[in-house]
Amino acid sequence: MKNTSKRKRALVCGGGGFIGGHLSKRLMREGFWVRVVDIVKRHQFWANDEICDEYVSGDLRSPKFTESILNQPFDEVYQLAADMGGAGYIFTGENDANVMHNSAMVNLNVAQYASNAKVKRLFYSSSACIYPDYNQLDANNPNCEESSVYPANPDSEYGWEKLFSERVFLAFNRNYGLNVKIARYHNIFGPQGTWEGGKEKAPAAMIRKACEATDVVEVWGSGTQTRSFMYVDDCVEATIRLMRQDKFMGPVNIGSEEMVPINELAQIAIDLSGKDIKIYNIDGQDFIDKYGFPCPIGVNGRNSHNKLFNENLNWESTLNLKDGMEKTYGWIEKQYNLSKR
Ligand code: NAD
Repeated sequence: MKNTSKRKRALVCGGGGFIGGHLSKRLMREGFWVRVVDIVKRHQFWANDEICDEYVSGDLRSPKFTESILNQPFDEVYQLAADMGGAGYIFTGENDANVMHNSAMVNLNVAQYASNAKVKRLFYSSSACIYPDYNQLDANNPNCEESSVYPANPDSEYGWEKLFSERVFLAFNRNYGLNVKIARYHNIFGPQGTWEGGKEKAPAAMIRKACEATDVVEVWGSGTQTRSFMYVDDCVEATIRLMRQDKFMGPVNIGSEEMVPINELAQIAIDLSGKDIKIYNIDGQDFIDKYGFPCPIGVNGRNSHNKLFNENLNWESTLNLKDGMEKTYGWIEKQYNLSKR
C-alpha cells in the first residue's frame, strides 16, 4: 500500500473536465495525493485512477456535498468547476440562467467551505470573458490589461458570473484570510478536451470540421475576429506557478499573446488535414436561416496581456499555436476516426 501520510494533498474541483484533468495528472506526477471532484462520474477521456487517487462524483452546488469534500487538510485546492462551453454554448443566450446560477452556486460554496476548512491555498479560474466589450471592438488592438476591467461590461453572462465570483473569492481573502490566487484564462486548448457536441471551443471545432470536411470548413462570422490560444500544458504550468508564490494573488491573465484572426486558426487546421478544402464564412441572415439564432461570435478582438504575469513570475509560455494545433490535431483525428467505426 502507498504511504499517503507524507504526501501533500490537492483537491481539484472540476477535475473531470479538460484543464482539471491535465492539472490533476500533473499533480499526481509531482507526488501529490489528489482528490478530484466533479459532477460527472468519470473523466471523459481518462480512467479516473490515471488522474487522481480518489475520484468523488457529486454536485458542488450542494453546500452539504461541498463541505463533505473539504473534510481534511488540503495544501492546494483548485476550483475549476463551472457550467461552461465554447461560443455555441455561452453566446447564444440559451444557457444564460444555468451558466450564472450553476457556476455562482459552486463558487459561493467553495469559497465558504474552503475558508472554513482553512485550506492552505486556493486557485480560482476566471476568464478573459470578464473584459469589457468596449475595449475589444478593434480586432487588431484589443485591450485586456488586468486593470482595464472596470467600468465592467462583459459581453456575456458567463463573463459577469466570473467577475462576480472573482469578487467573492477576493472578499473571502479580505475578511477571512483565504489565501486565494486568481487567473483569467484566455482560450485554452489541447488534447483530452471536448471536441464535439456543442460545448467545444474554436481550436477543437476547427480541427473536427477539417476532419469531417470534403470541400469547406465553416467558420462563424467574418473570420477577421481575433483571439489568442494557449496550449493546455502551458496553462497548467502557469497555474501552478501562480498558485505556489506569495508575491501577489491576481487576478492575472494566463494566456498566449500570439493573436490570430479566426480564419487563420481555421487555415492551420486545414493545412494539418492535408486536404484541398476552403474556408466558408457564415454570418448575418445566412447564419440565422441555418441555425435559428444570430451568429454567436463574441467580441471583435481579444488577446492576452501578459506583462503582469511575466513581471511577477518571470515565465512565458513555450509552445506556439501551430505546434499546439499539431499536437491537438492528432488526438482529435483519432477520436473522430474512432467515432466513425
Ligand atoms: P470543462 O467544462 O472541461 O471543465 C469544467 C468541469 O466542471 C466539468 O468537468 C464539469 O462537469 C464540472 N462541473 C460543472 N458543474 C459542476 C458542479 N455543479 N459540480 C461539480 N462539478 C461541476 O472546462 P475547462 O475548459 O476545463 O475549464 C476549466 C475552468 O477554466 C472553468 O472554470 C472555465 O470557466 C475556466 N476557463 C476555461 C477556458 C478555456 O479556454 N478552456 C477559458 C477561460 C476560463
